[in-house]
Amino acid sequence: MSDRSESASRRLLGRLKQVLAEPAEGQERLNKIVRLIAEEMNTPVCSIYLFRDADTLELCATEGLKEEAVHETRMRLGEGLVGRVALRTQPINSADATKERGFRYMPETGEEIYSSFLGVPIQRLGERLGVLVVQSRESRKHSDDEVYAVEVVAMVLAEMNELGAFVGEGAALAAPHQQSVLLRGNIAQEGTAEGRAFLHEPRVVVTNPFADDSDIERKRLRDAIAALNTSIEEMLVGLGSAESDQRQVLEAYQMLSQSKGWVSRMEEDIGRGLSAEAAVEKEQSAARARMSRVLDAYLRERLQDLDDLSNRLLRLLTGQGADTGVEMPENPILIARNIGPGELLAYGRSLRGIVLEEGSVGSHATVVARALAIPLVINAKRITVEALSGDPILVDGEQGIVHLRPDEYVRNAFRDKMAMQAKAQERYASIRRVPATTVYGPTIALHMNAGLMADLPSLKSSGAEGVGLFRTELQFLVRNKVPRRAELAALYARVMDAAGERPVVFRTLDIGSDKVLPYMKPQDEPNPALGWRAIRVGLDRKGVLRMQLQALIRAANGRPLSVMFPFIAQYEEFSEARRHLLDQLEREEAMGHVLPESVEIGAMLETPSLAFAPRRFFEEADFISVGGNDLKQFFFAADRENELVRRRYDTLNLSFLTFLEGIVRRCEETRTPLSFCGEDAGRPLEAVCFAAIGFRSLSMRPASIGPVKHLLRRSNLEEVRDLIQDARQSGVQSVRADMMEWLGDLG
Ligand code: PEP
Ligand code: MG
Repeated sequence: MSDRSESASRRLLGRLKQVLAEPAEGQERLNKIVRLIAEEMNTPVCSIYLFRDADTLELCATEGLKEEAVHETRMRLGEGLVGRVALRTQPINSADATKERGFRYMPETGEEIYSSFLGVPIQRLGERLGVLVVQSRESRKHSDDEVYAVEVVAMVLAEMNELGAFVGEGAALAAPHQQSVLLRGNIAQEGTAEGRAFLHEPRVVVTNPFADDSDIERKRLRDAIAALNTSIEEMLVGLGSAESDQRQVLEAYQMLSQSKGWVSRMEEDIGRGLSAEAAVEKEQSAARARMSRVLDAYLRERLQDLDDLSNRLLRLLTGQGADTGVEMPENPILIARNIGPGELLAYGRSLRGIVLEEGSVGSHATVVARALAIPLVINAKRITVEALSGDPILVDGEQGIVHLRPDEYVRNAFRDKMAMQAKAQERYASIRRVPATTVYGPTIALHMNAGLMADLPSLKSSGAEGVGLFRTELQFLVRNKVPRRAELAALYARVMDAAGERPVVFRTLDIGSDKVLPYMKPQDEPNPALGWRAIRVGLDRKGVLRMQLQALIRAANGRPLSVMFPFIAQYEEFSEARRHLLDQLEREEAMGHVLPESVEIGAMLETPSLAFAPRRFFEEADFISVGGNDLKQFFFAADRENELVRRRYDTLNLSFLTFLEGIVRRCEETRTPLSFCGEDAGRPLEAVCFAAIGFRSLSMRPASIGPVKHLLRRSNLEEVRDLIQDARQSGVQSVRADMMEWLGDLG
């Protein structure tokens, strides 16, 4: 960069600073800015286009184009050169705009006489705000220096508190972060919540993008980078030898933080008049824009590292530490791009709701949110960009909808819905102690699913008869190394203590597929749901399975023990796993440990093959529990994680119900106790159908027990059985419509 261009940039920024400091109406100020840039860059046209909505850009101010085109000329994202700059978040620098791919002529602007075009995105940390354009008559490409200068100006514009506030009232453009926004995501945990946005990693606020003394700013930047490097080194020293993944990440950070290109680009920005913070943020914005274009997973990860590194640096520069000092509001609704299960557990039950920009139904965060019964909406695109700390927010986990800054009408409707739910809860509480006896009998045993110590109080409050499924993998997922046997034994003992007389069915480690342990080398499997998971891992890596079985035996310490093996696909797997448990019982006895009073060994039926296993499997298993989540995905060949197909096949599809009925019959033949512990057991209509085809035990999330019991107690199972039979004979695909009608008649 030449000294001349550096001083020209500094002068431009200096004047921009003055304009921004002057009191002026939004539009007037915007006009002044375009005039000033045109003058300083010695170009006849300078225009600012801003987003009117997510897909439309509007010419909001211009120097040089026709006045009457302001607030009239609009283009869609990707349309014309301006639309393309915004879409790709990359500058377009052309000597002859008309020859450029995607060019679209806007007659109302009078731009036909201008040949050269330079457009740069106005963006803030991956949020597209608009496009800044300079145009001139002669056919010439702008120099790199000029492109850079315009980018720096765009950065300063983006940093304005409310870019929308520049625009006059008549223009009907609302300032961002003020209007109500409805975001649609996916349901990960049902429930509704009203509260205030609490950002997991709030954006560091850069209050002053300008700096008068670049030497001071360069020094501040270098000091902050040095401090950053020291902290990375300290973290590296503190790492144990087993933590190789963390080491890799930190080493990548270290490499990036010492990268000459990164540092020199920021120093160059400072040379042009930006403050150290603004320079870091400019680089971060560029990295985020690149991230949205890069498909290569490795590169995306590196850009993500750069993003994290920039955040750390910004925190050091602004003094806003990891704890940014933002107080948790009352009724906090956590907002994050994504979050790990450990971090979520640390917030615990203080949260009213969670909204994630990414996430998946089977992610660890989802598992934890479910265990804590906190409403969770995932894949809520743009939530981290739209939400500011403290914004009022409504989370509708029943429909996967988030209302940010809702208006009164929406808020009132939402409160009505919440009040109705609260009423229903009261009703459920009143039947907590009574059994789920159907109209002319039988009684259905209702158990709850759990996975954390924090779940256990729900045993009492929900009225569950016991824990029908204790998912032991959560303890493995929330740690960064394999838990020790003594730790597990202590935890399992606490679970049994808390359950008291009520039985707990412990499922051995079910990892693989979507549940990846942070400290386990990820397997590069083409199809993880059909891959090396659950009992397959247990039987291949016997050490962990044995250790877990020993921990369970020691935890029982003379009490009854119930163990269930996940994802059994054939009899031999069950008998081998069972053999391991029997061996461990012998070993523990030989070592002098007290054996459990009784031991029940069961299997999860999650693959269709097991329904057709030889009779001796049904005889040998002390109990069987249908894992409907997995069973359904394999029955219909529809990935439970894939939003495109997940909901395509109805649980009340008669083929599926007929298949389940076959399992019931086989268990009846051998008198093997059978239960259903997938998510569907917690849906009242499904639960009634399962009971009608012969299930006598269901295990579900604690919050579902009330609604399921309420409906079961009003159900005549004979009637439902006839309904299913009639539907089957009539040849319809699903019994849902008939069941809905039946429910309607029930009142
Ligand atoms: C199931 O597959 O239905 C089940 C209960 O197990 P998970 O959801 O943990 O795979
Ligand atoms: Mg399963």
